[in-house]
Order: sequence, then C-alpha cells, then structure tokens
Amino acid sequence: MAQRDATHDPARRSWVASANAPGADFPIQNLPLGVFSAGLAGPRCGVAIGDQILDLRAAVDADLVMNPVVKETSLAGLMAQGRMASATLRAEVSALLSEGATPRPDVLVPMSRARMHLPTTVRNFSDFMASYDHCARLGVRRDPKNPLPPAFRHLPVAYHSRASSLRVSGEAITRPHGQWQRQDGSMAFGPTEAMDYELEMAVWIAGDNAIGEPVPMSRAPDRIFGYGLLNDWSVRDVQRWEMPPLGPFLGKSVSTSVSAWIVTAEALAPFEVPAPVQDPPALPYLDSPWNRSNGALSVRMTAAILTPRMRAEGAEPFILTDTQFAGMYWTAATMVAHHATNGCNLLAGDVLGSGTVSGPEETARACLAEIGLTGLVTLPSGETRKWIQDGDEIIFRGRAEAPGAVSIGFGECRGVLTPAIAWPA
Ligand code: MN
Repeated sequence: MAQRDATHDPARRSWVASANAPGADFPIQNLPLGVFSAGLAGPRCGVAIGDQILDLRAAVDADLVMNPVVKETSLAGLMAQGRMASATLRAEVSALLSEGATPRPDVLVPMSRARMHLPTTVRNFSDFMASYDHCARLGVRRDPKNPLPPAFRHLPVAYHSRASSLRVSGEAITRPHGQWQRQDGSMAFGPTEAMDYELEMAVWIAGDNAIGEPVPMSRAPDRIFGYGLLNDWSVRDVQRWEMPPLGPFLGKSVSTSVSAWIVTAEALAPFEVPAPVQDPPALPYLDSPWNRSNGALSVRMTAAILTPRMRAEGAEPFILTDTQFAGMYWTAATMVAHHATNGCNLLAGDVLGSGTVSGPEETARACLAEIGLTGLVTLPSGETRKWIQDGDEIIFRGRAEAPGAVSIGFGECRGVLTPAIAWPA
C-alpha cells in the first residue's frame, strides 16, 4: 500500500520549469511511467515531467538511477519486480528532478519529439462493470423492475476481453464490420452503424501470483502497479446481437485504447478516499479495513468529441462526459481479489478495465448508449450525434484532485474513427 512521503510534498518543485506550471498534468508529484521512442533510437522507458521525458536508459547509464531493469524496451521487468521497485524508482527520480538538484537536461527528451508505445506487451485484459449507474441506466431497458444483473451487488462482474487489440492513445480505430439483427428482424452485415466509446480506468497489474494461489484483500492493493485511461470501444449493434448467452465478443475485441502514461499507485496515495458504502455489505473475501478507508480514488474523468467540422473551424473538443472515478461501486482492489478468487494467475502487465465510469449526474453518462437514452446530442457546431461518425475523435482526460495535494493529470487517451475498409474479395 502506498504511503505519503516527501515525493508528494506540495512544496516540491522541479528544475524542469514546465513541470511547475499551475494545472500541469505532469508536475514532480506525478512522475508517471511510459515507453517512448525518439529519432532513430528504439523504444525505451521514460518518466513524464512537465513537457519533457526523463530517459530512464540514459539516466541509468549516467548513474543517476540505479535499477538496470528500466533499461529494457518495456516496463515489463519493473512491473514484474513489483511495488517496492517502483516506489524506490519514484524516490530516486523525484530527488533527481527536484529543484536544488544539479539540472541534467542531457537526460531529457522533449515530449514533442517522442512517439509513445504501449507500456508493455499485455498478456491478459479483463473488463469489469463496476458502476452502479451504468448498469442501472442500461438495465432499465431490459427489465425495469430488475435493472441490475443478479450478481452486481455481490461481486464485481467482468468478462475476459482481448489483449492483442489493445492500442496506445493516438492510434486510429477503423470502423469495423459485423453482423446484427435489425429492428424488423432482418439480418444485417456491414460496417457498424452504432460505434460507441466507454470511458474507463485501466488498472495495470504488478507482480505475479502462481496459478492456484488466490490474492486476498490484504495483498490486493500491492498488486496494482498503476492506473491509466481506457477507451473500451464498443460496437453496440454487434454487441446486442452476439451477447446472449456467452457475453461480449466482437463488439469489444475490435480495439481498446489506453493512455500512454501509467500514473503509479504511489503517485495516487494522496487521492485515496473511502470506498462507497455497499448494500448489502460485501462478503468478507471482498472486504478489508484498508479498502473501506482508502480503496477508492478521487479522479475526475472527462470524455470529449472533436468532429471533422469542429476541427476545420478550430473549435475546442466538446465534453460529452464529466464523471468521478471515486463513485464506482467496486474498487480496483476488489477487482484484483475477485479475479484471483479461483486461483487465476494475474500476471505483471495485465490490464483490468474498470467498466464505464458513469455517475448519477446527467453529465456523468460515460458512453453514448447512456447519453442517447435522452435523445440526440447537439454539439456547439450545430451537428448532432447518436453514435460516433467517421472522422470523429474521442478524447479522454483524467485529473486526480484532493485538498492539500498538488493535483496530477493522466495525459490523454485519444483515438479517431476512420471509415470502414472495403470488405476483402
Ligand atoms: Mn467496458
């Protein structure tokens, strides 16, 4: 479990001037980890600081950082070493970048020159459904008397999704083909007519548990390496038709975008808040004193749209969703513990999606399927949307906020929808 220490000190500033700007996503209190390349050099690990990246390979070569595992081409090794290793790295990097330390611009790369990659090869991706409001709003259409799945209040419901189609923020998504049934009962096959986003949090796993070895709630927090933004792109017409009885398949495996920077569990220590009260109380294996007092995270999350017309007119992205991660009915620790209840081995670098982060407010509907229940969205450009159109870009942002702490950002998770390909002959 993360402790508050000198790295969270609100008075700490960096010799990287852009990190000290009010409202910066990456002040010295954040220090998120990612994998980047710049120029002809291959992928390497880095830490975001202001508008710069600390090149961890160069920092090790200059004897500024001690752990040689961060010289690898991904974060896999560091994730496998677990939370102690990332906490030690955080302390070293914070000291190195602090005002008063000798400035070392030679180990920095401007973000504007970098291309971001997935932080590691993800071997497993499971997606949860932990928001009461998301389930309740969409479930009412199916059964107004019993909108929630029967297990919803008893365990964090999830399915195994597709790791191979995880993409890093910035990569375009192609409108997929699929099969569905029209309202009149006739069959359709072609480019989807119902492309949606789901605003979610990604939970990155640290360390491994052997198969057959559950992860109790007392150890679950230490299995969380960090967090990012996740767009669980959803093909609603395909999903509705294919779901019964085995659950989501092609409606979800099309692509899933994750933000490039992993905000570590250590960085988020000041933003831990009590988990929402559960009714009925969770069974003991999904409960712990720490989870009740610290299990949730105060992160404001937004989803915005930028249409081709808005882009041409120089308009700002329009915010469709403005929500709060702390309201999720199930916490990340309960997702980890539940996932390993049967001895399922969670591996370093696995990703858990939180499920659509919807809240009770009208503005906190975190996908178009929910927003569309009250009619079309009208954008400032005068355009309307029910689903995502070709050329539309969806942009997620996240910001952890708490009294007495320097607020930290998640960067962006963005993706533009490009037109469907011609079906191959
Ligand atoms: Mn989802």
